[in-house]
Amino acid sequence: MSYAVSAQKDILTMMYGDETHLEMLDAFARLVEDRVLPAEMATEVARASNPLQEFRSQLLAEDTLDKKAVEAVYEKARSKRKVPDNVFQQIMESGLTTMPFAEELGGLDLPFPLFIAFLETLGKASPSIGVRYAISNTVAEGLKFNYHAGRLSDYGRSILEALVTGEHLAAFCLTEASASGSNIMQEMATRAVMNGDGSEYTLTGNKFWITNAESATVFGVFARTSKDPRHGVSLFLVERAQEGCRTGQVFEKYIVENSSFGEIVFNDVKLPLGHMVGQEGFGMDYAMRMLNSGRITIAALATGLAQRAFEEYLEVAVEGKKTAGRHLIEYDRTKAKIAELSTEIDAARGMTYRAAWMKDQYDKNASDGDLLSRYVIAANSAKLKAAAVAQKACHYLIQIWGASSVVKENRAMKHYLDSWLYYFGEAVPEVLENTLSRMEVKRYKARKGLQD
Ligand SMILES: Cc1cc2nc3c(=O)[nH]c(=O)nc-3n(C[C@H](O)[C@H](O)[C@H](O)COP(=O)(O)OP(=O)(O)OC[C@H]3O[C@@H](n4cnc5c(N)ncnc54)[C@H](O)[C@@H]3O)c2cc1C
Repeated sequence: MSYAVSAQKDILTMMYGDETHLEMLDAFARLVEDRVLPAEMATEVARASNPLQEFRSQLLAEDTLDKKAVEAVYEKARSKRKVPDNVFQQIMESGLTTMPFAEELGGLDLPFPLFIAFLETLGKASPSIGVRYAISNTVAEGLKFNYHAGRLSDYGRSILEALVTGEHLAAFCLTEASASGSNIMQEMATRAVMNGDGSEYTLTGNKFWITNAESATVFGVFARTSKDPRHGVSLFLVERAQEGCRTGQVFEKYIVENSSFGEIVFNDVKLPLGHMVGQEGFGMDYAMRMLNSGRITIAALATGLAQRAFEEYLEVAVEGKKTAGRHLIEYDRTKAKIAELSTEIDAARGMTYRAAWMKDQYDKNASDGDLLSRYVIAANSAKLKAAAVAQKACHYLIQIWGASSVVKENRAMKHYLDSWLYYFGEAVPEVLENTLSRMEVKRYKARKGLQD
């Protein structure tokens, strides 16, 4: 049985009727099941085991307190907590990072819903690894639409090509510590100031809560370039190797532990003009467009997590513990929850793939204002729905496990913690709701001929 879900295939068949897509999805699902899932689970086991005890017994076995030996043992224990690099290598070789990009950029030029199906499958096995690529894709997306609009510099194009092939991995640097993430465009403190002769910008500031903080090799950074409330923010590319750029604090977190998370510091980083993406002052527009796409990727990962939790719920209900001599599936309340999750996950998946399909339509016709409104509604509502469904599925999974859900070896609580990534990542529900409401009212007024 394939790790891919039959509903994914139904949707892709409905959209494209093309068998090759299904074969690709099956092949990717096999890779995820054979490599990503075991790698993710091995790191969980390593974290759940008692490292001090392990450390002590290994030291005793070494029969020495030599510093080098201690370091070696420590490194060995640490490496068990990380996904091996060759897993990332294999994911890249699968073509995941190249899928939604034009052939001239080194991409496979495949429909966005297929990329989304791959991400859902990846997210089912490992939210950490899924978000690593989802975030990098969001940055690449910002370069891609600027490239197709003829606004990307040669330097920007070279970075985009490296992101497509997986040579570079990107981080999306928007949020800051001193500001509310939800209101960042108004409160942004990071600044890029053009020098006197107009040849370069100097970038200064700190970005916080950044995914891929340690692993990214390039950063898509939003910075204030003027006080203009509408056109005061611009988007820049910064490579890790550039002077003045470094990873600051790195946070150990409860969720998605295989994804690094922290602060990126920009201390007077000199940026030649080619490092600006698109036009100065259009960072807010670019961020919105990147986030529309990014929210669909988050919705796909959330759907994958919901599906995983649902499958584990079914396993406990049908084959797990008994109460009063009967499996839990025999109780009506369990059946109702299964029906609810089945319906909700189907809805989340349908909304997510439709939003992905609408993205492709919008990319082909970016001047269509009504299409944009419909696309924004589809993308934001998919993220809102899928994140909520993931939380619900994980919550129900914890319930059905009972007390054993709190034991570290049980994955239910980990799934639930991971679901918060999809709640916060790329906007909290209130922000999505504001956007949805604004778009619906805009469309209503347009239909009624009322002034916007
Ligand atoms: C795991 C993880 C990974 C992340 N990765 C990245 C990344 O790669 N790049 C990046 O730039 N950022 C990243 N973020 C940051 C993320 O985008 C922000 O957490 C998010 O935008 C919310 O901002 P905040 O945390 O400052 O919360 P706030 O904006 O302060 O919101 C806190 C709470 O206030 C309430 N609230 C906020 N706005 C409103 C409103 N308009 N109306 C009513 N109530 C409201 C809500 O209850 C909300 O939950 C990540 C966050 C997490 C948790």
